[in-house]
Amino acid sequence: MRFTHRYASLGTVFTLCIAFSAAAQVPLGGNFARDPKQPIDQSYTDRIHKYTTEPRFLSPLVEYLPASATVPTPEKVLGDVAGAPDMLPYAEDVYKYFRLLEKSSNRVKVVTIGQTEEGREMIAVAIADPELLKAQKENDARLAQLSDPRTIGLDDSKAQPLIDKSFPVYYITGTIHSTETGAPTALMEMAYRLAVDDSPYIKYIRSHMIVLITPVVEVDGRDRMVDLYKWHKAHPGETWPRLSYWGHYVAHDNNRDAMGMTLALTRNVLGAYLGWHAQVLHDLHESEPFLYDNTVGDGPYNAWIDPTLADEWAELGWNNVAQMQALGMPGVYTHGDFDTWSPGYLMFLAGMHNGISRLYETFGNGGADTEKRELTPEQYSRTWYRQNPPPATVVWSQRDNNNYEETGLLTTLSYFSHNTHHFLENYYIKSKRSVEKPTLEGPAAYVLPANSAETNRQLQLLKVLEAQHVEIQQLMAEVEVALPVVKKPDNKNAGEKEEKPAAKDDKATKKDDKPTTVKLPAGSYVIRLDQPYSRVADALLDKQYWAPDDPQKHPYDDTGWSYSQLFNVKVTRLTDAKFLQSKMAMVTDLDANAGKLTGNGSTYAIANTGQTSMLALLYQLKQSHFALAEKPFDAQGIHFNAGSLLITDADEPALVTSLHNLALDGVRLSATPTVASHPVTAPRVAFMHTWLGTQTEGWWRQAFDRAGIPFTYMSTQKIAAEADLNSKFDVIVFAPVGRASSTDIIDGLPMWTNPMPWQKTVLTPNLGAIDETADTRPGLGYEGLEKLKSFVSKGGLLITCEDTARFAIDTGLAPGVSVAPSADSRVVGSVLSSVFVAKASPMAYGYGDSLPVISADGMAFNISNTLGRGGGRMLMDPYAHRPTGRGGPDEIDIPQGRVNVEPETPPKQQPWEAKALNEEQTRNNPQVIPPSERPQVILRFDETKNLLLSGLLDKGAAIAEHAIVVDAHLGSGNVLLFAINPIYRGETIGSYNLVFNSILNHDHLNLPVANQTKNTHNEGGVDH
Ligand SMILES: [Zn+2]
Repeated sequence: MRFTHRYASLGTVFTLCIAFSAAAQVPLGGNFARDPKQPIDQSYTDRIHKYTTEPRFLSPLVEYLPASATVPTPEKVLGDVAGAPDMLPYAEDVYKYFRLLEKSSNRVKVVTIGQTEEGREMIAVAIADPELLKAQKENDARLAQLSDPRTIGLDDSKAQPLIDKSFPVYYITGTIHSTETGAPTALMEMAYRLAVDDSPYIKYIRSHMIVLITPVVEVDGRDRMVDLYKWHKAHPGETWPRLSYWGHYVAHDNNRDAMGMTLALTRNVLGAYLGWHAQVLHDLHESEPFLYDNTVGDGPYNAWIDPTLADEWAELGWNNVAQMQALGMPGVYTHGDFDTWSPGYLMFLAGMHNGISRLYETFGNGGADTEKRELTPEQYSRTWYRQNPPPATVVWSQRDNNNYEETGLLTTLSYFSHNTHHFLENYYIKSKRSVEKPTLEGPAAYVLPANSAETNRQLQLLKVLEAQHVEIQQLMAEVEVALPVVKKPDNKNAGEKEEKPAAKDDKATKKDDKPTTVKLPAGSYVIRLDQPYSRVADALLDKQYWAPDDPQKHPYDDTGWSYSQLFNVKVTRLTDAKFLQSKMAMVTDLDANAGKLTGNGSTYAIANTGQTSMLALLYQLKQSHFALAEKPFDAQGIHFNAGSLLITDADEPALVTSLHNLALDGVRLSATPTVASHPVTAPRVAFMHTWLGTQTEGWWRQAFDRAGIPFTYMSTQKIAAEADLNSKFDVIVFAPVGRASSTDIIDGLPMWTNPMPWQKTVLTPNLGAIDETADTRPGLGYEGLEKLKSFVSKGGLLITCEDTARFAIDTGLAPGVSVAPSADSRVVGSVLSSVFVAKASPMAYGYGDSLPVISADGMAFNISNTLGRGGGRMLMDPYAHRPTGRGGPDEIDIPQGRVNVEPETPPKQQPWEAKALNEEQTRNNPQVIPPSERPQVILRFDETKNLLLSGLLDKGAAIAEHAIVVDAHLGSGNVLLFAINPIYRGETIGSYNLVFNSILNHDHLNLPVANQTKNTHNEGGVDH
């Protein structure tokens, strides 16, 4: 059997539709004509027309509603038609309707697919003819074989009958973004149409495929949004509060979790998608007029997808636009500026699991009000890919939005239903090529070499892969394997390269890159790439490169994410497929070997190897005594790094349980080691948030919850109202707000509006809970700022990051720290290399010399020993130029007529260091920071040539080697400033301990101040 790729041209599309149409002569747009024999629900139909603001926003697919004697329309639950103004249903009501449908129609089946973080139900609704639903189990067994072609020995002749017999599953997901409110009602009505309508095209859909619908993806956020909308309706003329919280942890970023799989909604949707062996995941959004089917999007496309997927995007996207164009609906397009590089979007669960990822942006009003909308020139202008653009201004209703969502979906479902065989073939081909990856493009496998020092972080990475349904194996015995030769492109001179004989080239390659072998110990974890979901493993573990001169100048999201780098684990990429013959066994329980306790004695030691769960142990074993070793030591033949934990008075059964749960290895020691140590207790942590934005801190909050680190969650308003912060807290975490200015943080929202509450009330039962306030407008205020200063001055630790680090700088909380100008350097969510400056700092406990970090935009710090503008500027830089005078450029000038005395060259600073001050600069200068209060640099960016690890970096010299983590001093306390985000989207396990170490050592962070300003380096670096 031979599979050939069939690209359906538009001509083919219409031929197909016409061929399947019942009538011999089809009128214009008649492919979607209704069945004239079926009665319509006139009252419902009238209101469809009434609520649609212009006739061209309707289509033959949605301009009527068929009537049914037995199946209730959405009106039964909504009290009006889908998309009616002034009404948004709660998830519960949406579910109620789907369950009514299930009860009244044998074409509908509702299943639970899981719970949200707050315990709300998520559902999926299957719609098809009863014959299909009845045969679903057998069909699913066939699809399962197609999705894992190993089950049929990759034999196309066995695949063919499975494809012939099977019907596909098309999965649609609605309202992941809570402020994009239209999808649930559109999907309710579309489900009714699919279940009830007797028009030929609908009958064709339901008899050839299963349509699977999750009407609400972000259920927690939906219910809060409906509350907010109700508040708005109850307070006419008032400014309504922002949706401060969507999901329990994050807002818009819930659509960036398809890599890390940290949110319940992502895991539940993937479970449903893979559980039903669906071919498509089509996610509905509402931010562009009137329908941006960004199925085609823009480049660069993700580098790990099967090329067939890119063709399917083109096929489905352009077909969808063409069909809606034929219906005369304006503002429909599929090419745009959304690049398809990052696999973090929910839809990409399909793209990375051999399906088809799709996404609509229709036009929503953020509620159900009918509004006059004024578009931007980018939105209404005609371009080559949008020949029928939307008008510059438009009166737009929720019903209009629902019309577009339903028409788009129904036309594309119709096309899909006529091409099921083609898409099932593709599904099989993509799955097969995923299994064949080691012998096609490679690599063969990724290996995490067995290493007890890395086990804790390895397990966290493996659990991400497990959540992605990737198979994990372990080597049964040691294997020696050749490492692939890295071929570097010769950028020097193309002409020169051509002149070189090939043999010489080879030799040079060998000399430069030294192909070596590596011994992989027994127990090493193996991700074989001859498995169906190899693409997602490859996409996560590989490195990314975004060329600075890529035509796409506006990356839509991060350009780098390499999980092996960001989890700070060693991952070996192997290309030799022979390795796959090594003896290995499937891992069924990743926790089986987590947390061992060995040795004899009553003191317990835990070697610090950078596990992210040591801090949690202090909260779990409250009755034990903990001490932290300040220096490395050896005991019972084991080396313990500085920062290792010593535990006495432990209840051993409780300890054993905790060690297992936290994946920490412990050793019993017969005597307490004599190493210098200090006692540690569980720090009291306050987690401060603003009412400006809770998403970026939400990722931190989630990480703390997952790591088992308790905290008191307080708004800036509550912090400002605390009488004595030091009596309650040791540490205040002020995670990033997300592009907030220092003024925003202090002032909050403008006070010229009405008060905007975020509270649980009878009207708004789903607000509050996470935190609440009678008025979200006030910020920290100057009183709150004074409280923070007092807290730090009296010995507290304040942790800041990105915009909150800027806030610390702007408000005098971090004397001597400033944000470094980034000049023309360009970073867009890239993984960069960093180097520890203060290896002795407790923040560096468990780390090696360097660490991959994610940088949003290249932010970095400058450090100074004085307040104000750095350490005084020398107009004539003694390093850059020599003055005009005698001699050559590298010689010195000699004044004439006197004995020459060469001036003493001032010490040269590295980019991460403060300028040393000479006597002249310190004399009677109140701006000079006392040595004990000068900021200390913990971590800096690597030098330019080593800086980029994954993603985009252009002109990195301006930020290279600059400080990125600084410990500033105020009074007897500390303010930590992060220019990179150490806790980001569940992706940066490797840098979590920069935060957790500092919390654990909150009262032992200061380094000795001696020699702080003395500089010993002289090579390299840029002088400022
Ligand atoms: Zn969205």
